[in-house]
Amino acid sequence: MKQQNTDFLVIGSGLAGLTFALKAAEIGQVTILTKAQIQESNTSWAQGGIAAAVGESDSWKLHEEDTLIAGAGLCDPEAVRMLVQRAPAAIEWLEQQGTRFDLSASNALDLGREGGHSRHRIVHHADKTGWEVERAVSESVRKNPAIQVYENCFVTDLLISDGQCVGASAKISDLGSAQFTAKATMLATGGCGKVYSNTTNPRVATGDGIALAHNAGATISNMEFQQFHPTTLKHSQLAGFLITEAMRGAGATLRNHEGRRFMYDYDPRLELAPRDVVARSIEREIQKLKTWCVYLDATHLESEQLKHEFPTIYQRLKEIGLEIDRQWIPVVPAQHYSCGGVNTDLVGQTSIPRLYASGEVTCTGVHGANRLASNSLLEAIVFSFAAAEAISAESSNLPNTPEFKAPHCIPESEAIHIRHALQAQMSTHAGIFRTNAGLATLKEFIDSTLINYDEPPSAPFSAYSAESRNLLIVAQYIADGAIARNVNVGLHFNADLA
Ligand SMILES: Cc1cc2nc3c(=O)[nH]c(=O)nc-3n(C[C@H](O)[C@H](O)[C@H](O)COP(=O)(O)OP(=O)(O)OC[C@H]3O[C@@H](n4cnc5c(N)ncnc54)[C@H](O)[C@@H]3O)c2cc1C
Repeated sequence: MKQQNTDFLVIGSGLAGLTFALKAAEIGQVTILTKAQIQESNTSWAQGGIAAAVGESDSWKLHEEDTLIAGAGLCDPEAVRMLVQRAPAAIEWLEQQGTRFDLSASNALDLGREGGHSRHRIVHHADKTGWEVERAVSESVRKNPAIQVYENCFVTDLLISDGQCVGASAKISDLGSAQFTAKATMLATGGCGKVYSNTTNPRVATGDGIALAHNAGATISNMEFQQFHPTTLKHSQLAGFLITEAMRGAGATLRNHEGRRFMYDYDPRLELAPRDVVARSIEREIQKLKTWCVYLDATHLESEQLKHEFPTIYQRLKEIGLEIDRQWIPVVPAQHYSCGGVNTDLVGQTSIPRLYASGEVTCTGVHGANRLASNSLLEAIVFSFAAAEAISAESSNLPNTPEFKAPHCIPESEAIHIRHALQAQMSTHAGIFRTNAGLATLKEFIDSTLINYDEPPSAPFSAYSAESRNLLIVAQYIADGAIARNVNVGLHFNADLA
């Protein structure tokens, strides 16, 4: 079995992991483990952009106020202040890495506006900001001689010794089992969208980091706050494809089957109300009219503006026969972002010594009960910076490495069946609207399935099977959190509490 020691170990190659790696490489050797290709991540799919108070009429105080309002009273004010105050420096750093943001005619950053923001403050690269950011940062990582990257390397366990995290074990395709030790480990494994049938997240978003942290005994919270994006495409050929909020920011409106702009019935902020409000309004409208979607109408916007500001959406939809300058876009809400996760402090430290976390896998306190749009890429950078400063204090005297433990897997054919059943249960009972009875049914399904999962003798390792077990753990946190949350707040809505 391969054994390797490094100064700093990073699990995940989205913006959180890569940012941390580049900063940590200034003080030591860094090894990145990532389960697919380096760029396969939620980061690469981000469309809208990154929030930062860099406009003339804006200030970090206004950004802070908007973030706290979206979080519905459950944000950690200290974490929010740190996030918004450090946002301009984060943008500057990304530019230094070679990220190309769109500029206005006067050569200043061109700022978009999204729901819940009181100002134009979204720094962007057309409608593929995440792709551009990941490109720039991964290029910097590739060029850095202090950073080694293992792709197709699936982390199966955190190594815990004397209550401290001393690294991780993994399965590397072609190389087999491996153990990596390090004086600090950064968990940056991203989201868990695949726990639902309908999500904007790519295939790697299976909540592995939540399960790794859970198995290691770290504290995890707020998983009941799952954000559903209001406008994802309802189409057999491109299900879950995100239609960015920036399109509503540019003036696109929501209409029901009868063509009525129904947001007038729900919120005075109309299409730019916070995401939970818009998503719930859409669900209600779909139920009320017994239809399978609502529509996003951008037909009153100039064709040239749509092609220029939303080139990816324009092109992808055209390929499936939808001309957005002439036709309404059928949309439904879909799981998009996990506001809860592994608890960390202001420097990304988890409840386990030497284990840090950053990005969507965490609960830093900045999102509270609901994330303000475009605050998550920002969170990944700001908290990875802070963690990279903190790790210099970690000593190299590690306790002994624990013995290798092979991960428990069931045959893939069974895992496929279980994953689909779980996704259906989660979508029915832990989606935008929840009920006491539905959550109880869900909980019973998850608990009994987990017991069955662990009972038979282990089958040969399969990443799909390991991920499916991880999804069950994630689902358990969401269900338990939703059952325990006895008041409707932010993204959690239980009809029996209304
Ligand atoms: C369609 C879409 C649009 C979005 N738009 C925006 C936006 O406009 N603005 C914004 O701020 N946010 C946006 N978000 C959210 C944002 O993209 C994510 O929250 C953010 O990119 C998370 O970054 P991360 O580094 O934490 O995780 P990710 O970018 O998801 O990276 C996680 C990494 O961990 C790896 N990994 C996972 N499990 C394992 C394992 N077991 N072993 C090894 N490696 C593993 C993955 O392969 C991946 O490389 C969007 C998300 C989506 C899906």
